[in-house]
Amino acid sequence: MIRLRVNPIRCDGFGMCAELLPERLTLDDWGYPIVDGRPLSPELVALARRAVAACPTAALRLADEAEPHR
Ligand code: SF4
Repeated sequence: MIRLRVNPIRCDGFGMCAELLPERLTLDDWGYPIVDGRPLSPELVALARRAVAACPTAALRLADEAEPHR
């Protein structure tokens, strides 16, 4: 199952990803992304790849994981 992950150390918090994938990413009060870690449908994987490619700090990635990290 493909899920979206964000590296909070790399993220600079400008929130571009949340504009590209609002189905899975929202922003907190400081503009940092809150990731919905549910598996992505094939349609959302395509959109998520676009958000990953647009992330200026390579903080966003797709992970093939059986269970979400807690
Ligand atoms: S696009 Fe990348 S750097 Fe910008 S908020 Fe999203 S994860 Fe962080």
